[in-house]
Amino acid sequence: MPVEPVRSIAIVGGGTAGWLTAATLAHFLKALGCRIRLIESAEIGTVGVGESTIPPIIEHLASLGIDENDVVRKTQASFKLGIEFKDWTHPGHSYMHPFGLTGGQRNGVDFTAYWLKCRESGTAAPLEEHSLTAVAARRASFMRPVKLANSPLQNITYALHLDASLLAAYLRAYAQARGVTRTEGKVRHVALRPEDGFIESITLESGERIEADLYIDCTGFRGLLIEGALKTGYEDWTHWLPCDRAMAVACERRGALSSHTRALAREVGWQWRIPLQHRVGNGYVYCSQFIEDEQARDILLSGLEGPALRDPLPLRFTTGRRRLCWNKNCIAIGLSAGFLEPLESTGIHMIQRGAVLLLWLFPDRHFRQADIDRYNRHMAFESERIRDFLVVHYSQTQRAGEFWRYCRETKLPESLQERLELFRSYGRIIREGTELFTEQSWFYILNGQGVRPEGYDPRADDTPAPQAQQLLDHTRSVVARCAAAMPAHQDFIAQHCAAPLPMG
Ligand SMILES: Cc1cc2nc3c(=O)[nH]c(=O)nc-3n(C[C@H](O)[C@H](O)[C@H](O)COP(=O)(O)OP(=O)(O)OC[C@H]3O[C@@H](n4cnc5c(N)ncnc54)[C@H](O)[C@@H]3O)c2cc1C
Repeated sequence: MPVEPVRSIAIVGGGTAGWLTAATLAHFLKALGCRIRLIESAEIGTVGVGESTIPPIIEHLASLGIDENDVVRKTQASFKLGIEFKDWTHPGHSYMHPFGLTGGQRNGVDFTAYWLKCRESGTAAPLEEHSLTAVAARRASFMRPVKLANSPLQNITYALHLDASLLAAYLRAYAQARGVTRTEGKVRHVALRPEDGFIESITLESGERIEADLYIDCTGFRGLLIEGALKTGYEDWTHWLPCDRAMAVACERRGALSSHTRALAREVGWQWRIPLQHRVGNGYVYCSQFIEDEQARDILLSGLEGPALRDPLPLRFTTGRRRLCWNKNCIAIGLSAGFLEPLESTGIHMIQRGAVLLLWLFPDRHFRQADIDRYNRHMAFESERIRDFLVVHYSQTQRAGEFWRYCRETKLPESLQERLELFRSYGRIIREGTELFTEQSWFYILNGQGVRPEGYDPRADDTPAPQAQQLLDHTRSVVARCAAAMPAHQDFIAQHCAAPLPMG
């Protein structure tokens, strides 16, 4: 069968998903001469709360040729070195999930195995003291990596906290400058081809009819094309991740500009704190079975560090995934493809993955099923593994209260159960395929949540205990010295990428 190129793409929805997808396709498909059109409705608006990201965004923006300092300035962004989980194991407890690598490997054995070995004999300092990003985050410091052989300063791994609406506007300007056309309007009807059920056209409230070869559904929770028209179905994960609502509000910042996101466990869920240059984003993610909206709102407002800048925005969601992200000639990207709560800041990342995987498996007008199946398998696998990662936070805790007891007693997904069993023996984690979180990320969370392995990787006995301890002590002191040499986050931004002061 000769290739019949895709001539036109219609992206419906102009939130982070719509514009990030448009920007990515416009950049990487420019030589194909394919028309890309994005339809969005100002009347409906966007969710506009995705503000904390993870390190792959840095690489993705660079792959689009976007200047990082420019995007930081224009989205009032700050830098992020990890997430602090406060009160998750029990009130008063705190641990970091830092980005990047802690300590590296020795003879193919991970640093964490030597750390477990020393902990068994009671001599290991807390794990995070061996991580440069964790220590720097605790000090509110930041700098980008520098070329310095044998120094952890060359491996600083980071992400951004950014204003989601400003990011969408930034990407919109980028995509439009690369030929994406924008149509303001509300989609009223989606017509399917009678012979095979593919999407034939969409009609706007204005009466305009738009046809394309490929449709990308970025309509958010509505899933107007993938669900409304194609009835693809949704796998509900609420029994594992029961939070189904959030209240979000920005407030004035008090104190130094921190370089990490904070996730604070609450009686019925948790509260985020995301520091931007000119404000702090806050939100309470909770479960409506256990708390009323008004109460959640009061808890959120009473825990802010500075005056709220507007009324809290209520949001509702159902955690889970679309059964197929790609169905016929329609691909769902963003909230239309599923929702995993923002505890590990994975929403924008999954948009990136959706767009990049689409490029890898970019179809022609034959829409071969093998490509579609592969795409769906990849997206399902990646979101299931993130789901498991999130479930650990809720299930492995000693917190009191009805909500936390429910989380602790819920039967875990089989894939997570298996992983926990493996970890509980020798502290081993095996990362599979394209799953997002590294072995060390899993280690930090499992260890932080108080899961204790019975032993350590027997291969760590290649190093006698005193030398293993020396390895830890050396790593810890190098990390402390490097962190002390890093500038305050606020100063780094002032020097390289300060946003202009907001008007008014
Ligand atoms: C409480 C919460 C906190 C979050 N925090 C984070 C975080 O910290 N980090 C992170 O990475 N992610 C986070 N996310 C996820 C992130 O917000 C989303 O992934 C991101 O905003 C993408 O949204 P979207 O573009 O898919 O949908 P939306 O923002 O809802 O955009 C939908 C678009 O579709 C358009 N549309 C809908 N219907 C029609 C129609 N009939 N006709 C025309 N246009 C239409 C709308 O106008 C809009 O432009 C969070 C999500 C929630 C709910």
